[in-house]
Amino acid sequence: MKIQEADAKTLLVAQGLPVPAWKLARTPDEVRAAAQGFFDAGNARVVIKAQVLVGGRGKAGGVKLAASAAEAAEVGARILGMDIKGITVRKVIVGGAVDIAKEYYLGAIIDRATRRIVLMASAEGGVEIEEVARVNPGAIHRVSADPELGLLAFQARGLGLAIGLRDSLLNQFVTIAQGLYATMKANDADLVEINPLAIVASAAPDGTTTQQLVCLDAKITLDDSGLARHPALESLRDRDEEDPTDERARKLGINFIRLDGTIGCMVNGAGLAMTTMDLVKHYGGEPANFLDVGGGARRETVSGAMELILDDPNVKAILVNIFGGITRGDEVAAGLISARASQSRAVPMVVRIVGTTAEEAARLLTEANLETAVSLYEAAEKAVAMAKAATR
Ligand code: GDP
Ligand code: MN
Repeated sequence: MKIQEADAKTLLVAQGLPVPAWKLARTPDEVRAAAQGFFDAGNARVVIKAQVLVGGRGKAGGVKLAASAAEAAEVGARILGMDIKGITVRKVIVGGAVDIAKEYYLGAIIDRATRRIVLMASAEGGVEIEEVARVNPGAIHRVSADPELGLLAFQARGLGLAIGLRDSLLNQFVTIAQGLYATMKANDADLVEINPLAIVASAAPDGTTTQQLVCLDAKITLDDSGLARHPALESLRDRDEEDPTDERARKLGINFIRLDGTIGCMVNGAGLAMTTMDLVKHYGGEPANFLDVGGGARRETVSGAMELILDDPNVKAILVNIFGGITRGDEVAAGLISARASQSRAVPMVVRIVGTTAEEAARLLTEANLETAVSLYEAAEKAVAMAKAATR
């Protein structure tokens, strides 16, 4: 689950990371009021940033500075309602603008190969890190944390040295890197990114300036499977931007991933779903989705899953493959029959149900004139033939 910059920053602050203050605003008037607060606090300029769950907002015109409350309201009016990569901007954050001396990149991800949290840093910050990885991969430095010991100070220091930080800035970097690691752990995040991590100059009342590292941008994705351990984080889900299909699938308790083929698959169990997709491909077809209805699926789940499949206009045939264990075959068959009765469009379908109450399922399906198959091979072959016939 992706969360907005403002929420990501809140999670960073909770781990003690340095993030300049900000306020959320949904209207130009709210932008004006927030900006006025920052000007009253002594800021010379404010920054207004679109809150959308995509990167590259700066380039798209979604990050702008303003030098007065009136200008901030104008800029806010321009950004609110703007379309950034297909998403309408509904909210912005307003913050005191800082003077950036240099921008770095700092990120933490889970490296599934080593099964560790890896920290990555680069002196080429501000720009999209994917671009740095492509053009100049040597500019990205990495260190992996031990799952028991965490990210040790010397490791963080090595990373900071590699991107050219020294003295006080290096010490600040160590604290920030360890805070990033702590943010990953505390929230079961699978990605935490600060880009830019910026050196900003701040003036003390006596006229001396010091350099500080601050997190100007924050991007966090949470591990969906870890959310059960953090019920409070569920409230950070941004329903404005969630794919409605994902939300429907989640409510039904279905694992659903859309693909670009023509054969809709409805299967129980992730492994069986993978096998089913493999066999579809084996017979020369392309799956339109991965769909696992889960264990013990009831008829409402089955008809909900059917609607998700049929919503994809590319679907030309449907393959249902159910291995009844806890799931009852007759329950699935009944779900399929009622879904067929009320479905939005007629798509050929072949059903294979084995295991618990398979005989009852077969009887129901035959009575309803639905095409069945005994083996998975037969089912996959039939589905591919149906899809081919439909596209011809
Ligand atoms: P992104 O484009 O979606 O990654 O959004 P960012 O939050 O990273 O903002 C893009 C760029 O805007 C940054 O790389 C900075 O150069 C600039 N920016 C963001 N905040 C400030 C600020 O407070 N002051 C100044 N001068 N520039 C800022
Ligand atoms: Mn950024």
